[in-house]
Amino acid sequence: PHVRPSGEPAEIDPDELDPDALKVVLRLHQHGHQAYMVGGCVRDLLLGRKPKDFDIATSATPNEVRAIFRNCRLIGRRFRLAHVYFKGGKIIEVSTFRANPTELEPANGAEDEGDSGSEDLLITHDNVFGTAQQDARRRDFTINGLFYDVAEGRVIDYVRGRRDLDERFIRTIGDPEIRMREDPVRILRAVRFAAKLSLDIESRTYAAMEGAVEDLPRCAPARLLEETFRLIRGGVSAPALKLLDALDALKLLLPPVNEYLKHHGKEGEKTFYAFAEALDRRVAAGEALDDAILLATLLMPISRSTAQEEAQASSQEGGRPSVSQVVEDLLAGFVQSARLPRRIAERCRMLLLAQRTLSGERRRRSAAFKRHPLFHEALTVFEMTVEATGEGREQLDAWKAGEVPQPRADAGEGEGGD
Ligand code: ATP
Ligand code: MG
Repeated sequence: PHVRPSGEPAEIDPDELDPDALKVVLRLHQHGHQAYMVGGCVRDLLLGRKPKDFDIATSATPNEVRAIFRNCRLIGRRFRLAHVYFKGGKIIEVSTFRANPTELEPANGAEDEGDSGSEDLLITHDNVFGTAQQDARRRDFTINGLFYDVAEGRVIDYVRGRRDLDERFIRTIGDPEIRMREDPVRILRAVRFAAKLSLDIESRTYAAMEGAVEDLPRCAPARLLEETFRLIRGGVSAPALKLLDALDALKLLLPPVNEYLKHHGKEGEKTFYAFAEALDRRVAAGEALDDAILLATLLMPISRSTAQEEAQASSQEGGRPSVSQVVEDLLAGFVQSARLPRRIAERCRMLLLAQRTLSGERRRRSAAFKRHPLFHEALTVFEMTVEATGEGREQLDAWKAGEVPQPRADAGEGEGGD
């Protein structure tokens, strides 16, 4: 049954295709438009992985797409595309073929210039419509530039992405120097795909990434933060952060992590990556962790060691260190440098402070603490700390058994509040 018009079998088993995405493609065909499945889904299917989502590229303009689908909304200004909605909140993203913008993007990620009334006339850099081939060539990496023609059961490869997938290489489409300078966020994307898919980065692409690291601050902070979180959410924070460290990009993306790694030598590195690996194991096991938990776990080794250092320094002076100040400073720096949303910073702060009660380092009304709104989330972070450090297992078991463990002998007075 699954045969191509030529008689050969389809290159991708049709059962692997998302039925809703398939409907969208066929509907666009019925209306006389070209439409393909594109990008990550084709790459993942050819690698034998389950795609996260199925994106579609089409010759239809956003307005034409909207006219065809009732359950459809247009989103984005800089990059206008259609979202087609299905049951259960599922969204299929449909974007119009685009040519590579002739000029560089505004480096600071500024909003586009003005609004020209009709959406389809709003031609900003990213809204120059083009052919399927141009659309393939404007994409970042060859492995992400493959199209799948469901009617023909055939992969369309304008960018030699098949070869790179087979040889397991990440390579930019076109001149790596230009493509990385055009959009340095692609550095993080290359790192994410390398870590996630266990692919190698082709050497010229890697050299271009090294060269473009200094341009990262010119990208919109929100995009950098989002791609950074995508690495961590993807369950590959350990290998990805190692790669970013090798590229010397951590100083720009996660300054506190960079500082910590620079000043704590091999031992610090071991501790930090033990936390990252504990986190990655959870994500790989399918546990859904929110961004504040992810970040709190990666900041745990840093807040622990800073607090210890401060404790040593201040015990000589006879005062008690203010751990909350340490955590406060850590996050304030983050909000400033990376524009971490305050909402996440605040949750993260509470999670980090709660660790002191969980570990028994701070004495407080523990029974009330179990009703803390973030108790379960905080316990998850504590559990990963125990995994990463081997310390605190007794306290963890007690909390999990619903008991309140004894504070440690050296515990300080509770501060209440958080
Ligand atoms: P994932 O499975 O992790 O979502 P993906 O390949 O689908 O990976 P997306 O960020 O969802 O990645 O982007 C979809 C597609 O859009 C990519 O496959 C790529 O072709 C293109 N793309 C995304 N970001 C860029 C970029 N910064 N520059 C050029 N092309 C990009
Ligand atoms: Mg995607």
